[in-house]
Amino acid sequence: MISIKINDIPLQLEAPVNLVEAAAMVGVHIPHLCYHPDLSIHGKCRICMVELKGSPKLLPACMTMAEDGMDVVTNTDKINQIRRGVLGIQLSTHPFDCQTCDKGGECRLQDYVHTYGADVKKYAASEEKPNYDNPLIERNMARCVNCRRCIRVCSEVQADDVYEAMVGKGPNEKIVTDESKCVHCGHCIAVCPVGAIQSRMSLHTYRPWYIDSEITTVCPYCGDGCRLKLQARKGRIIRAVSLDEKAPGLGSLCVKGRFGYDVPNSVERLTKPLIKKSGGFVEATWDEALGLVAKRLAEIIAADGPDAVGALIGGRNTNEEAYLLQKFIRTTIGTNNIDNTARLGHINALMAIENTAGLLSFKSEIRGIAEAKSILVIGTDPMAENPITGLAVKKAVRKNEAKLIVADAGRNGSRKFAAQSLDVKPGSLGRLARAIVSVLLAEGLYDKSLETSESAEPGFFSKLSAWAKAKPLSSLCADAGVSEADAVEAARTLASEGRTAIIFGAGVTASANGYADALAVARLWVTLGGAAKGGIYPMAAKAGEQGACDMGALPDMLPGYSKITSASERGRIADLWNARVPEMPGLDLFGMLSGGLKAMYVIGADVVSALPGGAGTANTLSELDFLVVQDIFMTETAKLADVVLPAAAFAEKDGTFTNSERRVQRITAVIEPVGDSRPDGRIIADIATLMGRPMRWKASEVRERVSVSTPPYAGINFALLKRRGIQWPVKLMPCELRFGPAEGEGAGILPAAPGGFYADFAPSLYHSGTMTRRALGLNKMAGSAYAAFNPEDAARLGMSGAGEVVRVTVKSETGSITLEAKIDASVPKGIVHIPDHFAGAGVSGLVPSGRAAARFWPVAVEILK
Ligand code: SF4
Repeated sequence: MISIKINDIPLQLEAPVNLVEAAAMVGVHIPHLCYHPDLSIHGKCRICMVELKGSPKLLPACMTMAEDGMDVVTNTDKINQIRRGVLGIQLSTHPFDCQTCDKGGECRLQDYVHTYGADVKKYAASEEKPNYDNPLIERNMARCVNCRRCIRVCSEVQADDVYEAMVGKGPNEKIVTDESKCVHCGHCIAVCPVGAIQSRMSLHTYRPWYIDSEITTVCPYCGDGCRLKLQARKGRIIRAVSLDEKAPGLGSLCVKGRFGYDVPNSVERLTKPLIKKSGGFVEATWDEALGLVAKRLAEIIAADGPDAVGALIGGRNTNEEAYLLQKFIRTTIGTNNIDNTARLGHINALMAIENTAGLLSFKSEIRGIAEAKSILVIGTDPMAENPITGLAVKKAVRKNEAKLIVADAGRNGSRKFAAQSLDVKPGSLGRLARAIVSVLLAEGLYDKSLETSESAEPGFFSKLSAWAKAKPLSSLCADAGVSEADAVEAARTLASEGRTAIIFGAGVTASANGYADALAVARLWVTLGGAAKGGIYPMAAKAGEQGACDMGALPDMLPGYSKITSASERGRIADLWNARVPEMPGLDLFGMLSGGLKAMYVIGADVVSALPGGAGTANTLSELDFLVVQDIFMTETAKLADVVLPAAAFAEKDGTFTNSERRVQRITAVIEPVGDSRPDGRIIADIATLMGRPMRWKASEVRERVSVSTPPYAGINFALLKRRGIQWPVKLMPCELRFGPAEGEGAGILPAAPGGFYADFAPSLYHSGTMTRRALGLNKMAGSAYAAFNPEDAARLGMSGAGEVVRVTVKSETGSITLEAKIDASVPKGIVHIPDHFAGAGVSGLVPSGRAAARFWPVAVEILK
């Protein structure tokens, strides 16, 4: 125990901290500009000087660790005179533009000058002009105080090195940046203590005292589930702010979280219920719209039975909404035809892990990736798709010297941090995982306890061995398009000392054999030693996908993954709901969209844009007798609806999201729903009530019911979900290793024609679907679909790369689209990278509809002359 005094206030410390932190613990603020708790010590601003009683020497508080017996004074005349001197030097070049600086009111320089004053000897204004090279970030180096926080955060935390160095002297000193490296995370804005680096989204419009509503909530754009603060004024969101390093989000946000906050403000929001009449939509009252929905659903049930109705929910919805929808479909409608968009990939990961080690047997924390010594990133690009997971990967590589293996077929920004990069053939990542298992077994690098484990099913190890060896290593590697030496190197890296992390995503789970490939990855994890050796991280693309699965928005599972075929589980849920639960598994998303239903209720899922075979999906939906779509924007799917119900956005409602590490976190409304829009849960409950089974909507009440009916969520309620949320399972169950059911490996994807390409329909850093396409800042960065080629392929196609605008036609057997072409060295040869978020670009029409939710598909490309 370390006993010290700060301004005569006694303090006991269990571990040494510097004097800035120690003082903060007793409520004393020692001024500082260059010090930041998440960054290395710079120690140059000299404003944090303090005294030790009895010693004439002044000490920089940021560089002085608390030692037993220290008696620290932070505010003598001598210290304050030094502070006035420091501030005077800063002000001697600082522009007098506080009236127009958005930092006013939260500027360290302004605040300290107000507190201590400033001895300005001579004034010579900096001649630096604001720089607008970055579409989202203003850099005004005339205001810079040379603290170098931006340089350090970009290098030490983000590993992007955009801020290169300070050049020049005195008033002309400035920071040189390399904008080509910027991923627009805005972390530099967050750490800048003054107005030198600011968001262009709110330029000249932001002041802290403008805010009339502020809450801490969860970013809705990807499965990382970063916590952030949203600030609003007069019903409009005006800023998103990252939290500290201990919060989910690791102290940062990606570009979507920091600059995509304005989606709820969009003028394109649906604000009134719409009913289709004579081929067009007319505005309706809620009573008219809900009455029509209840009446038509009841008529269709009466005529064709409950199984003629189906429902889908997408990735923008809360757990409580997904729970209520599946309960409504099962009890009010009377069918198990309920699914969610995780069917396109993430559910394969969950089922593969469940069928191997059990989801209740472990927890993998995103921040734990930073502790790994070896990492396999397979079939996902966390730097773009789940950027805070990507941040943890970068931390591991840069700070923990982790060896990163990146295996993918398409463009993957993680490659630039990789020790080993494997360009795998499209659709064969499962083969690579199996090849690595084969090497681990052959070289004796596997977890030996598997041979005798009493917690494994009988014969587990021999089944695993037989599976790995059923195909020779040479054949597995040939299928995957990698050398045997590559597989051996990867296996040895992963089996080496230290913790591992296996991160996988849609490249695996949304491939033609998504479940089988995910199972191979899960078996690789188990072979290495499972949770004892490291974490496994299935990446959810959307904030609500994990939760929708957990809540039982699935055709064959009840809340908490209880099987619908289990009479006892059905009985348990039926007792809780006081209603019958249908016995037969329902249709999944693909089954529902292959025709045969009479009515569908689609919430927050633009399936026409997102699913393979967009035209086929649109045809199926058009042929329904009745389609209800509930969303925040007029999506391609909503355009086909008979009734469109306007829903509240993430910032306008309460509930919880569960991120891909299975952390349940609370979201809270910061503004009222725009127009006449309503929270999805309220709409579902109102329809159920009109149909004769009254339901109530209050997010906290539904949360209580979830905790009773969903075993992994037992005991999780709003009151417990504080700053970090709660990861499920709350209580770990013993791991029971299983070999998993039959894998159902299908035919895979068609080979590309000679000289042809595989289209890689990939998420991008700047978008995550329907919502982000309405974010002004994100559209500045990526406003439309494009086709990106490797430079060699571009040259082969006849592109000079000389800045000309080139358009290409991308054709498959099912469709053809024309896009602007780009040249991108990070796209592998033979691949055309096409971001998949742009509705209306017709991307989904390039792939036939059906179960093969192929992330890659063979296409031909022609340049348009
Ligand atoms: Fe975090 Fe994902 Fe939101 Fe980015 S999009 S801020 S990584 S939750």
